[in-house]
Amino acid sequence: MATNNSVADQDTHFFGDVCNNFDYAAKFTKHDAGLLDQIKSCNSVYRFRFPIRRGNDFEVIDAWRVEHSQHQSPTKGGIRYSEMVNEDEVMALAALMTYKCAIVNVPFGGAKGGIKINPKNYSLQELENITRRYTVELIRKNFIGPSIDVPAPDYGSGEREMSWIADTYATMNPGQLDAMGCVTGKPIALQGIAGRREATGRGVAIAIRECVSIAEDMNKLGLPTGISGKTIIVQGLGNVGYYSAKFLAEFGAIIVGLCEYEGAIYNPDGLDVEAVFQHRKATGSILDYPGSKQEFKHSAEGLEQPCDILVPAALENQITVANIRNIKAKIIAEAANGPTSPEAETIFYQNGGIIIPDMYVNAGGVTVSYFEWLKNLSHVAFGRINRRFEENTNLNLVNMVEGITGVALTPMQRSTIVRGASELELVNSGLEDTMIRSYHEIRETFKANPSIDTLRTAAFVGAINKIAVSYQNLGVWP
Ligand code: NAD
Repeated sequence: MATNNSVADQDTHFFGDVCNNFDYAAKFTKHDAGLLDQIKSCNSVYRFRFPIRRGNDFEVIDAWRVEHSQHQSPTKGGIRYSEMVNEDEVMALAALMTYKCAIVNVPFGGAKGGIKINPKNYSLQELENITRRYTVELIRKNFIGPSIDVPAPDYGSGEREMSWIADTYATMNPGQLDAMGCVTGKPIALQGIAGRREATGRGVAIAIRECVSIAEDMNKLGLPTGISGKTIIVQGLGNVGYYSAKFLAEFGAIIVGLCEYEGAIYNPDGLDVEAVFQHRKATGSILDYPGSKQEFKHSAEGLEQPCDILVPAALENQITVANIRNIKAKIIAEAANGPTSPEAETIFYQNGGIIIPDMYVNAGGVTVSYFEWLKNLSHVAFGRINRRFEENTNLNLVNMVEGITGVALTPMQRSTIVRGASELELVNSGLEDTMIRSYHEIRETFKANPSIDTLRTAAFVGAINKIAVSYQNLGVWP
């Protein structure tokens, strides 16, 4: 029997970094030490191992589920499939989920899962076995359920894995009406929601667009206001990176660089994100893309090329003291969780840059997961009941206005005004509203106190205050 412990554990400092950020921000709040300690602690850490059959042998898989905070139920957070995953990382990511949900006013506690495998090394059948067995282990310990703990996709997992989880949970809980609310990020055909797949990337793009729309802040950075023409490098062309790049380009930004683990490509005139994506799909690499002007065999070099905004969308610890001084961007938008080390962040701010923090920037995923969970509990798609009614009301209004004014609308104008909102439009509108409001909430906290030196600290202060109120409302804290 083999175990998959061959890959050495990463440094275990991620949870400590999150706690240090918390402690620093907590100084700007007035809560007592005990309450702060309760908010910061990981409430439940479930570490388990299970065997799967590989050919004639068995392999033992390491896995985790961490529920950081139950100040709101259920807890919520993705499952990471990575051979680098470890307990410290899952705890850190679970804690970030708690603060993230508070920042975007999503009524969940934070959680995270990890399965220590490289999915590329396993067959489809083996991945399904691993995912289903992982789910069974969660069910056995009451670590999953629509009102308990609701997983979602993360690095290395997606809709396919979420549908295996949903099916396993529903099979083992026959007759449970809300069973499909046990996991989000499901395919639409399996009670997922329109817009969830691209939600995190769309949220990243909206967050960046909002940040660069504020003239006062852009003047300080020496950048013109607005997203149009901003040059951007994106690291990671997975779910978050691909959609971030796609929507940023749609908003008018120029994607000048893309970095994947096999290397990086750069073109100051812009790269066609979709064409690069298709090139990588066809050849297995972003290198040799005909539209690039420069290529780097070492992916990390791609981060150091000229641009206005850097979007790390791969993994944690990508921007450290080793490379921060070489980074030319003025803004880092942390699409991944924990991509910037605390020391690098300090240097970046000292050099006049700003970092839009992960627990806000990538919160679009959990925001739309919340909408999916609501859809699963209500058993009806958004817009289904009122769409036709809205259209009829709008049509009556248009007919009346045309009758009174004598002005006839063109068929295009008429259909734009009359049309009721689809599920996708409602989801995107809720997401956009959430990202814009949350950015201004963080910025106001940042501006209100000159001692608060980073947007991350401001985001933590806001999150801590909201979670403290939840504990007080629960009556468990005076
Ligand atoms: P993914 O598995 O879909 O994509 C990650 C991509 O990064 C892959 O293409 C991988 O090849 C690439 N990559 C890995 N190491 C790299 C390196 N050193 N340099 C360049 N590229 C590298 O994962 P994802 O879902 O896009 O998640 C990415 C990050 O975003 C993670 O930190 C995750 O926690 C965070 N996140 C994801 C979601 C979500 O909804 N999926 C939500 C919030 C946060």
